Amino acid sequence: MSPEPESRRHDNVDHAEVHKFAHRAREWWDPNGAFATLHAINPLRLEWIDQHAGLEGKTVVDVGCGAGILSETMAVRGARVTGLDAGAEHLEVAREHATEAGLKIHYLHTTAEAHAEHHAGAYDIVTCLEMLEHVPDPEAVIDALVRLVRPGGWLFLSTINRTPRAFAEAIVGAEYVLNMLPTGTHEYARFIRPSELGTALRRHGFRVTAMTGLTYSPLNGQYRLVPRTDVNYLMAARREETAGPA
Ligand code: SAH
Repeated sequence: MSPEPESRRHDNVDHAEVHKFAHRAREWWDPNGAFATLHAINPLRLEWIDQHAGLEGKTVVDVGCGAGILSETMAVRGARVTGLDAGAEHLEVAREHATEAGLKIHYLHTTAEAHAEHHAGAYDIVTCLEMLEHVPDPEAVIDALVRLVRPGGWLFLSTINRTPRAFAEAIVGAEYVLNMLPTGTHEYARFIRPSELGTALRRHGFRVTAMTGLTYSPLNGQYRLVPRTDVNYLMAARREETAGPA
């Protein structure tokens, strides 16, 4: 029997989850389509990342990049961006869209785990937004993300907290009442508490430097950054300059 290819050995991918994103590949860039929420929150998270880490001239990898909603805007701010995703269909859409926009982004069909094997410490900034709640073993992804960051570099994560309020707002509200997300987008048990991420990051020699909540107001249809992190949140962490292996 031939040995398994590298990407299979590291297959911490829930293919049913990736399919949810892939079968709507053509909708990714429709601001009113299934990914409208990602379009709506993008300016807020882009600004937050840029304020903390400064994107201009930085080497960035965007893990679980989808069709490139965040990747493209980071490239526009002057970052050299690589985007990774487990879904081939939406990566194809990402490539076409970047070409049309005249942006040079390096898109790779792979996982954080496989990429980290040969790119340890290669990035000033690693982003992994709205992905951890879709993978079977988020800790294994975090182990790979931290390895990709150079000493002194930044890691940005976003996901959904595991609280009753997140269940009410992110699943019942967003999927069933307001129809902001396709039903079945999220599963409560996969939500992750900020303390769980923080503990994992500190173990790898990272310091959590900032955290913000992200909230939607059905009254005016707007998203805002807010102090409370009990539903959607973003976390910034920095790898210690002198720390041992990540
Ligand atoms: N980060 C983007 C897209 C979030 S949607 C944004 O915030 O705009 C989640 C994405 O993660 C999908 O594109 C899905 O294909 C991808 N994904 C899920 N599991 C993955 C894995 N294990 N490795 C890489 N990408 C994954």
